[in-house]
Amino acid sequence: MFKQTLKQIVTYEAGKPIELVMREFGIKQDEIIKLGSNENPYGTSAKVIQTLQDNAYKASLYPDDSMYELKNALSARFGIESKEVIIGAGSDQIIEFCMQALNHQNACVIMAKVTFAMYEVYARLAGVEICKTASEQHNLTEFLQLYNECKSRNMRISAVFLCVPNNPLGECLDAQAVEDFIKQIDKDTLVIIDGAYQEFAAHKDALKAFNPAHLVSAFENVIYLGTFSKAYGLGGMRIGYGIASEAIINMLYKVRPPFNVTTLSLQAALVALEDRAFVEKYIESNAAQMLLYEDFARENGFSFIPSYANFITLTHKCIESTHLCDWLLSKGVIVRNLASYGLNALRITIGTPQQNVRVFELIKTYLQTHN
Ligand SMILES: *Cc1c(COP(=O)(O)O)cnc(C)c1O
Repeated sequence: MFKQTLKQIVTYEAGKPIELVMREFGIKQDEIIKLGSNENPYGTSAKVIQTLQDNAYKASLYPDDSMYELKNALSARFGIESKEVIIGAGSDQIIEFCMQALNHQNACVIMAKVTFAMYEVYARLAGVEICKTASEQHNLTEFLQLYNECKSRNMRISAVFLCVPNNPLGECLDAQAVEDFIKQIDKDTLVIIDGAYQEFAAHKDALKAFNPAHLVSAFENVIYLGTFSKAYGLGGMRIGYGIASEAIINMLYKVRPPFNVTTLSLQAALVALEDRAFVEKYIESNAAQMLLYEDFARENGFSFIPSYANFITLTHKCIESTHLCDWLLSKGVIVRNLASYGLNALRITIGTPQQNVRVFELIKTYLQTHN
């Protein structure tokens, strides 16, 4: 009855919710530390919460499907035109639109060996072959080699996924290197630049800051993706955006269902975008706390890749990540086990100072009692 392609799809295992830990371990809600999904540990801006309360009465009406206000705000923020923006239920949905809209006949899509799991899910749903680079981290030389290999097999390449910074490893390509790469890619290949963690990377290193306005004016085959789920603290509202040439946006609009984001999500995003102080404070805290995680890792025998995002991925020679993650869960701390990516590693979202102190204490206890 169902599509053959579904057989190859492993149902995406989302980060564990607080409710599960409450149920399974009987831990109280306010004692649970959720650092498994790269959400903003400070929650969302007070102004957003006020807006949600003030606009709750609009729940009965369909949203403004033109998304006029948020598109205008995003255009002003990025220096683009509003016809160069599409808004989705998370940037996930924009990835889905791209995969649905592209012509995958006799084509493949290219992505890094270890990267955001949803690229593969949406590519498989679209029935397109997937080619992955050999290295775990993004390596543009390998991307280009793979691209040329596919071409020499007489295959088209419908899309290339670049995740900057990359989830779940945290590394980030330089913006200039990506531009040089795109110049070598044919115009009928869509280059998808996923900037879900760009706010953190741009703060840490200007060389890792991608400018969507520049990309869109320089290349007709690029789409830049951003989200309100991470730095802006709106994971629960499901809202993200894509920025590309008008021609690309028009094509994606053809596969977009009407009313794909809710009225409240649109208003929350609008207010979140304007409350820069809230986001900037978080980004600074993230950078300072990241240094503490790096110290902690070095002092306790963990290795890591310097991260340009709001998480750090740790590995330890003598530790099985699955065991450590399960143990942390039993103590009320949710982190992400990367065993499903084929890695003996755990990804921890950088939390608030208090949360991080607790994580450090617990992991030290684990090391003392399990070694
Ligand atoms: C979280 C994330 C997204 C998108 O999340 P949405 O909540 O769907 O906006 C996209 N790409 C990467 C790499 C992410 O980590």
